[in-house]
Amino acid sequence: MLWMRIKYRLGLLYKTVLFKLGFGKLLLKDRYGERILVYHGIDEVGETKYNSRFISKVFFEEFIKHITTHYNVISLDDFYQKKFKKDTLNIALTFDDGYLNNYKYAVPILEKYNVPACFYITTIHEKAPYLWADFLDLVSYHTKKKEVILERNLYQKNDKNEFIWNGISMKNVAKALPYDVLKMIYEIFKDDWESLPPKKYEDYWMLMNAQQIKEIADNPLFTIGAHGETHASLVDIPVEEAKKEILLSKQQLEKICEQPITEFAFPFGYYNQELADYCEEIGFERLLLVDYNTKKDTKNEASQHRFVMNPYISMEQQLACLLKGSYF
Ligand SMILES: [Zn+2]
Repeated sequence: MLWMRIKYRLGLLYKTVLFKLGFGKLLLKDRYGERILVYHGIDEVGETKYNSRFISKVFFEEFIKHITTHYNVISLDDFYQKKFKKDTLNIALTFDDGYLNNYKYAVPILEKYNVPACFYITTIHEKAPYLWADFLDLVSYHTKKKEVILERNLYQKNDKNEFIWNGISMKNVAKALPYDVLKMIYEIFKDDWESLPPKKYEDYWMLMNAQQIKEIADNPLFTIGAHGETHASLVDIPVEEAKKEILLSKQQLEKICEQPITEFAFPFGYYNQELADYCEEIGFERLLLVDYNTKKDTKNEASQHRFVMNPYISMEQQLACLLKGSYF
């Protein structure tokens, strides 16, 4: 394990040096191909104390500048139609969850460099302006509470600022909870949530509203796709509930955007065959994953795996891993 970690670090260091010396192109050799990238949040500074979902706008712009200069950045439409260039890396960009920070920071940069992107929106914004994972990340970090009770289970705060019961974090439990129980989490931490200065933390939780989503949908550079209603893990809730989530998020977005919504990104990338079939049945033509469950799934033209961006490494390291198509 230790040797693997040393090898990984040394590999990153070697690649950083190559890039710094201007030999980054050497790494592209034999690394041609296609990647769909996934971003979540873009913020001012690339804050990682709450979670690993935020990348700074400066880093983001630098990265966009680099990939538009050196590689072939294309729309997801072109990606699906396999309009790839040979001898380079073909890249399409996607953003999951529907954060307001996408609208605030990412959209202007994408417009500046004329980069197409797809935004996969969680439609919970009609019920609450945040995702439960972000709510929990923020209150868990700031609260003075050491233990809380949810559904008769005692959760204790660990040194990573997570509330744990029976070895599982509340954040993980929340992935499969119905909305009524999620509201109980809100009640538990209501006072902590209300004492956060809202403006200061807005970048770490606030979702786009209907008007902002519509504005993105109307921009010819961008498309909107669905990402579930409550961001529940669809494979961990009853299948009928999961189908409802998928259908509802499609219908809500079609109403907001006044256009058909034909792309679906599975929350957390978790999917199964039944849900994938259901998505196609109700009119989704593209299914965005993180990793394929099985080899067979790689043959389904509708589904594509995606490369998740990492806020903990330098741009050179990120590029090197992107070229390789993996972090290891
Ligand atoms: Zn998501």
